[in-house]
Amino acid sequence: MSGSAETGGPPSTAGAAMHGFAAELFPICRSLTGDGVRETLARIAERIPLEVTEVPTGTRVLDWTVPREWNIRGAWIRGPDGETVLDFADSNLHVVGYSVPVHATLDRAELAARVHTLPDHEDWIPYRTSYYEETWGFCMEHRRFEALPEGDYEVRIDSTLEDGSLTYGECVLPGSIGEEVLVSCHVCHPSLANDNLSGIAAATWLAARLAAREHRYTYRFLFVPGTIGSIAWLARNEERVGAVRHGLVLAGVGDGGSINYKRSRRGDAAIDRAVEHVLAHRESPSAIRDFTPYGYDERQYGSPGFDLPVGCLMRTPWGEYPQYHTSADDLDFLQPEGLTDTLETLLAVVDVLEGNRAYRNLSPKGEPQLGRRGLYDAVGGRVDRRSATLALLWVLNQSDGGHDLLAIAGRAGMEFELVRWAADRLLDVDLLAEVDAEMGA
Ligand code: ZN
Repeated sequence: MSGSAETGGPPSTAGAAMHGFAAELFPICRSLTGDGVRETLARIAERIPLEVTEVPTGTRVLDWTVPREWNIRGAWIRGPDGETVLDFADSNLHVVGYSVPVHATLDRAELAARVHTLPDHEDWIPYRTSYYEETWGFCMEHRRFEALPEGDYEVRIDSTLEDGSLTYGECVLPGSIGEEVLVSCHVCHPSLANDNLSGIAAATWLAARLAAREHRYTYRFLFVPGTIGSIAWLARNEERVGAVRHGLVLAGVGDGGSINYKRSRRGDAAIDRAVEHVLAHRESPSAIRDFTPYGYDERQYGSPGFDLPVGCLMRTPWGEYPQYHTSADDLDFLQPEGLTDTLETLLAVVDVLEGNRAYRNLSPKGEPQLGRRGLYDAVGGRVDRRSATLALLWVLNQSDGGHDLLAIAGRAGMEFELVRWAADRLLDVDLLAEVDAEMGA
């Protein structure tokens, strides 16, 4: 494993390095299956420990079947004078993903039926796929297509759609307990930056940082093709999913917009409370959305048969920026500052998850004397003594086993860090005992 200098350093400067990683991955032609996914996983594996799984074509995964594997070497359109009017080598968005091979001559009207454009954004190339219906097609700039003259066009797509496998990657970082935090991102999009090289970069950087420090939870990072990749993982890990206590899908986390968090299906899981707490105490604006059964792979993790507490962290939500699923979702659209803010937010969420426990006050009848136990001296070390004293009283008052520290922080209107500090001081003097069962997970 290399890259510790690249993935380390203060979070405030990580955005530029994450952007650099996205730039390295950008030219690779990823799809639902194929060598582009494998090459992407190989680049991730240079930075974090990664186990790669191949699921053969035809494997039944829950209600789905792993499709044939798609690979492409090249594609082009030649005009009436033999000139090249479109070349896959210029952009891998030029071919509809999963296009079957073709070599044919078409007149302009026939060609028009095979070419997707964006009339509202004449210089952008749309991103199109046809995973589950066998067809072929091209995507190009509307302005360039409109300028094409009448005549015969020779088209060629040099692709293969054959039995092979679906590929996904998994990075497991064992903690001191077996309970898990799941972090998932999709790896099936070609040259699109925010959707979802941003998610890949954020997950890789978060994993690298967690690999370099102690943690209580086991962290499991999934790099999967969208929908069928998470379904394949769930199908192969049904006995394991009970260990998942918290989870996040990372998608579209590198643009210049503010963070949007979509709650898990449960709506009030500890991950929802943790993210909402962190966002509420960060200076940058953010928004919370309720769960919907649409979007990214949170809908698979949150299907009723699993009902895993997995939310989705985004910046500008998918479909709400015009660059979404077009060639304008490029490396210029990806903002190092946005990537930095995402990583800092994720690290803060991890700190809350790691520190959140429930306790029982061991002297619950009347307030215990703080001074006799040296707790006022401890308070003296804090800048805001009044808040620190209040934090001690809140933790003592609410620690009846039914409220975890996150709930106490919410009720007290305090930052988690202060409440965690208070609990540690009370633990120092044997006024608290940890409650085994975790609250709200
Ligand atoms: Zn997408």
